[in-house]
Amino acid sequence: MDAMQPLEKNSSILIIGAGTWGTSIAYRLVKRGYTNIKVLDSNTFPSAISAGNDHNKILEEPISPPAADQSDLDYAWNTIETLSSEVWRHDPVHAPHYHPTGFIYAAVGDEAWEKVKAAAEARPDVYAPLEDAEAFRQTMPDGVLTGDLTGWRGFIRREGAGWVEARDVLLDVHAAAAEGGAVFVCDPRAGRVAELLYDDGGDGDEVVVGAKTADGATHRADFTILAAGAGASTLVDFEKQLRPTAWTLGHVALTADEAPQYAELPVLFNVDGGFFLSPPKSAIAAGEPELKICDEHPGYIHLADGKDGGEKQPVPVPRQAVPRTSATNMHKLLQATVPQLADRPLLRPRLCWDADTPDRLFLIARYPRGGSSQRLLVAAGGSGNGFMNAPAVGILVADLLEDRLEERMAKSLRWRPETAVDRDWFDTQGRFGGAGKVVDLGEIPDDDWVEGSAK
Ligand SMILES: Cc1cc2nc3c(=O)[nH]c(=O)nc-3n(C[C@H](O)[C@H](O)[C@H](O)COP(=O)(O)OP(=O)(O)OC[C@H]3O[C@@H](n4cnc5c(N)ncnc54)[C@H](O)[C@@H]3O)c2cc1C
Repeated sequence: MDAMQPLEKNSSILIIGAGTWGTSIAYRLVKRGYTNIKVLDSNTFPSAISAGNDHNKILEEPISPPAADQSDLDYAWNTIETLSSEVWRHDPVHAPHYHPTGFIYAAVGDEAWEKVKAAAEARPDVYAPLEDAEAFRQTMPDGVLTGDLTGWRGFIRREGAGWVEARDVLLDVHAAAAEGGAVFVCDPRAGRVAELLYDDGGDGDEVVVGAKTADGATHRADFTILAAGAGASTLVDFEKQLRPTAWTLGHVALTADEAPQYAELPVLFNVDGGFFLSPPKSAIAAGEPELKICDEHPGYIHLADGKDGGEKQPVPVPRQAVPRTSATNMHKLLQATVPQLADRPLLRPRLCWDADTPDRLFLIARYPRGGSSQRLLVAAGGSGNGFMNAPAVGILVADLLEDRLEERMAKSLRWRPETAVDRDWFDTQGRFGGAGKVVDLGEIPDDDWVEGSAK
């Protein structure tokens, strides 16, 4: 093959994963004029296992623009958030789905509170303290926060934060990308990538030239972009840089009469308790308004035997159910905040899989093996905030493909296995709540799961 084949507008580009990031990458590439894009996904769209296939997600805009004197990490996050918020505010496909209703940042336990307090007190221009339970109650319409909020301490950010309608924006971004010519193959056989295709790069290294799907078809491409979320590390060895990690969510139904009262709530985020979010407009219009609830905890993993007797590796195991502890903690969160809803049936609880990098910064890089002729790019490691920043991921991947990713960003987002040497799969990575530790799902007995109730 021609090792130095340049990128052209009609180069064939294969994206693996039509989830949050793959869809956003396709959308950005279409907007930049690329005409030969194919996206493969192992599920019909929107994928039932995509972390983004959800009523809603939290969005926080940057509180500082990127500046040269910031640390590399701060600079990277401020750049990512600035790129994203520009899209959420002004792009016609994204902006209708952003509800800038505000963000309540709270905690109960001392350690969690120290983290919240330090972050909020550093920016008194952004965060106002909520002195007591009554101050919390005043942030929402009468009759919503009727709970006693025992032990809650927090701050409110009234501007530049809120939530987005996740599934609805995914559908619209997908439609816009498809309208612009991107071809989506979302199917358990024709879209499921079984393995990558390799060619000899000429100097003994293998370069990726596409993918083979479960139906046996081969999809050759000039460039391949791996954006398979928690499933990415099943296709490429990430050298421990990715830890598939699950969090948990469920829903409670609201009545049509209640829907307007709960429709535009600020996000109530308790770092050691959990959060709930308003129903999206589409669910209200369909007569199915629900509050989405997440309990907070450091995450669940599933350790499976490594290949050929190698050391155990975490792998995603999708399941439309949650451990009983999580269901109980969701109930406790409702009891403390909106007790009027606490005894309603828990609807559609599920594990939601993301992938954590050791420093929780995204990994957007050329796959390093295969030398300069390598045609594989990876975009992985959402680490719990990859939805709000999916627009930036699209932009940064397109920049990387076009060899114009800013040097400082390229350095921060690089392939960095040195950060994952001796990785402790059970590291809490600065998260609180639940049992205060990462839990292996293999330790949870089959009868300790909650599958949810009918309405
Ligand atoms: C409970 C929970 C709450 C969250 N809340 C927020 C929040 O409030 N705000 C926020 O910004 N972020 C949040 N996140 C994080 C965010 O949802 C993720 O970081 C983001 O969605 C990751 O996008 P992705 O494209 O990498 O993965 P996904 O959206 O999961 O997409 C991966 C896609 O790859 C496909 N795939 C997998 N394997 C294959 C294969 N072999 N072949 C073909 N296709 C394949 C899957 O079907 C899927 O569609 C949350 C995550 C969880 C779990």
